[in-house]
Amino acid sequence: MRICNLASGSSGNCTYIESEKTRVLIDDGKPLDYVLNALNELKVAPDSINAILITHEHSDHIKGISKLSRAFNIPIYAHTYISEILIHQLQVDKNMFNFFDSDFDIGDLHIQPFPVQHDSKYCVGYRINEEDAVVSVVTDIGCFTDSVYETIKSSAVVYLEANYDPEMLMSYPNYPPFLKKRINSDHGHLSNLSCAKAIEKLVHSGTRLVVLSHISEHSNTENLAVSTIASYLESKNIIPNVNVKLDIAHHEQRGTIFRITPTSKKN
Ligand SMILES: [Zn+2]
Ligand SMILES: [Zn+2]
Repeated sequence: MRICNLASGSSGNCTYIESEKTRVLIDDGKPLDYVLNALNELKVAPDSINAILITHEHSDHIKGISKLSRAFNIPIYAHTYISEILIHQLQVDKNMFNFFDSDFDIGDLHIQPFPVQHDSKYCVGYRINEEDAVVSVVTDIGCFTDSVYETIKSSAVVYLEANYDPEMLMSYPNYPPFLKKRINSDHGHLSNLSCAKAIEKLVHSGTRLVVLSHISEHSNTENLAVSTIASYLESKNIIPNVNVKLDIAHHEQRGTIFRITPTSKKN
């Protein structure tokens, strides 16, 4: 599999995942030109994408989908619980929607959606595998629950949100108190420290690469997220770049391209 985040954060999210035979995007909250440029860098023709998988209905995850789906005839997959909202909000022919309430396959990818705590109508993370090569994408999550852990443990690669630093969040002047409370709740977003504790568990399950995602533009920085998480992990004898690689999903720039190969295809 080849995996690459194209954009991450409240200004728009999009992650690309491909296997030998299948190409999917998770969410698209970016302008059409942005996504086309990023796909072009990956040498991916947009009309070769088999599906856009939606995590939830917040605009930073769906606002680019109508144009992209219409321009290249790309089917859209989402949970049945948000079907009405999406049909209402996206300007896309109804036939383009595929609503799910359990696992499904697209080509040679097995897609396992699972519920996460977030203050949308309904929100899922995705565990995606080609045979025994597994990637999980978990952004927009108020709480790293046991059931999330049980679902994604031992994934080779995890895109996990490190949304905010509590001090920066509380001192940011342009957020009203209710919004700070929402972000900081069990149905909002993960702080750097909560993310670090989740990574600690994942590393013990066998995960070796975590991409810090959905980093807030206002109440976090990439450097602060990495340094907070690295020092927590070091205090638990988990050494970044030795026991686990930490990478970054950027706001306006595609991230690193990663490859994971199923055992049967390694020579
Ligand atoms: Zn959200
Ligand atoms: Zn979001």
